[in-house]
Amino acid sequence: MMNVPLTVGSLLERAEKFFAKKEVVSRTLSGIHRFTYREIGQRTRRLAHALEKLGVQKGDRVGTLAWNHHRHLETYFAAPGIGAVLHTINIRLSPEHISYIVNHAEDTVLLVDEDILPLVEKIHETFKTVKAYIIMTDKPELPATNLTPVYSYEKLLEESDPNYSFVTDLDENDPAGMCYTSATTGNPKGVVYSHRGIVLHTFALGLVDTAAISERDVTLPVVPMFHANAWGMPFAATWFGSAQVLPGPLFTPKLLAELIEQERVTLTAGVPTIWLGLLNELEKGEYDTSSLRAILCGGSAAPKGMIKAFETKYKIPFLHAYGMTETTPLATLSRLKSYQTELPQDEILEIRAKQGLLVPGLEMKVVGANGEVKWDGNDMGELLLRGPWIADEYYKDERTKEAFKDGWLYTGDVATVDEEGVIKLVDRTKDLIKSGGEWISSVDLENAIMAHEAVFEASVVAVPDPKWQERPVACVVLKDAYKGKVGKEELMDFLTPQFAKWWLPDDIVFIEEIPKTSVGKFLKSALREQLKEHLTKNV
Ligand code: ADP
Repeated sequence: MMNVPLTVGSLLERAEKFFAKKEVVSRTLSGIHRFTYREIGQRTRRLAHALEKLGVQKGDRVGTLAWNHHRHLETYFAAPGIGAVLHTINIRLSPEHISYIVNHAEDTVLLVDEDILPLVEKIHETFKTVKAYIIMTDKPELPATNLTPVYSYEKLLEESDPNYSFVTDLDENDPAGMCYTSATTGNPKGVVYSHRGIVLHTFALGLVDTAAISERDVTLPVVPMFHANAWGMPFAATWFGSAQVLPGPLFTPKLLAELIEQERVTLTAGVPTIWLGLLNELEKGEYDTSSLRAILCGGSAAPKGMIKAFETKYKIPFLHAYGMTETTPLATLSRLKSYQTELPQDEILEIRAKQGLLVPGLEMKVVGANGEVKWDGNDMGELLLRGPWIADEYYKDERTKEAFKDGWLYTGDVATVDEEGVIKLVDRTKDLIKSGGEWISSVDLENAIMAHEAVFEASVVAVPDPKWQERPVACVVLKDAYKGKVGKEELMDFLTPQFAKWWLPDDIVFIEEIPKTSVGKFLKSALREQLKEHLTKNV
């Protein structure tokens, strides 16, 4: 067979050739913009040329601090197109972490959204390797800024060649992208994506039994383009010629509902907190969401109650998927097998709420205290992964030793596997509640509590206990309409028949909001701190 390198630039070339008329709809601070793939292609080539003129060389890191919009999409292809590395930076991290990341990756150029400028201006003096800033703005003039040298994105494009050719002397194992995980303790850890890894992962997103992204789709990634490349959706949508809707900054559940209705979105992706917000919005207003063929949900466990509400009340199919920054990210996805469709509704929901089956192309092991676990749905162990789009190290980081061993990625996630080979994540190793020598899954408890109609969000954390070592305490945010009307007793009565007695939370604390990480997941470390205060006050 021919040994043709798999490269990121080729994904866009296909869209330019075969889907030149299809559209990318992009929302920025000044409104909605529409570009065809022909235009996106020309603009991307201009950007690639401009980056080259600025001195960006093969292997250099090109950082982005940007929301989901067309300019970010163009950078997704322009940087790898000249052999450079697209480095998407999580703008919601602390200034210290952003500074660490820029220096650790040794970014040479930073592309920055206008509304993110103030953040960059505050810390730019700490950057050691950045040689140029490019501002992504809709306005003809550059905003006043203390960054130097600074360029206007659109001006650079005007002065560059729309027919510029991407470099061809690339090895498919060359780096094309990188992303740092938002570690809750310690410095963020960098993951480098090869051209080959990205292309093979993109194939996986198109498989009918995974996300099935195709030309017929109108994709709306709500997951930020700095969170594991918006789960690869922009690459897949481009390659397969789907129309894309990029929601830009300051999106609210209302705005998402409107975009879905107006643009006839078929597939959208994001973390559960986004969907809890959307669900709330759908309950308030009349929206036409009939175009949606699926919501792709990952990043943390999708509560069963939420899946049920979307599917039964709004007839929107829900796809629960699992992955990590280290896995590009798609690793598993939950779909029913053909012989499971006639099962009772509650069993079907049970399966759909699991993280699902391993995606073709990857290998997995779940290893407990006594070796690989039994596939009985009960035996728990750490999930190990390997495959062509699984990282094999952290970029220049000592912590590689802890997570990558014997050719496997140790995910730090504890899982069970059932007879069908479907995995269910029980917890992150560090969030499991160790009570009297047994393990309690905070995720299972959260799921059960969030299935109560009065509950908006719930998170369960371990608190130290002199007798049992740790005990679960639930923090609950009630929906507005139920505040003051539903108390601890009612929720306890709701949980009691569902769990063994020793699993039940020792306390239920009502709070206004659950603290979230930079990518919208429950931030359990902060919650544990809050609880410490609460418990000392109540002693
Ligand atoms: P961060 O570490 O910054 O949160 P990642 O997105 O890489 O960034 O997080 C990956 C982790 O998210 C996984 O190791 C797992 O613990 C959790 N996760 C991802 N998807 C799911 C899911 N569907 N259900 C439960 N947990 C999930």
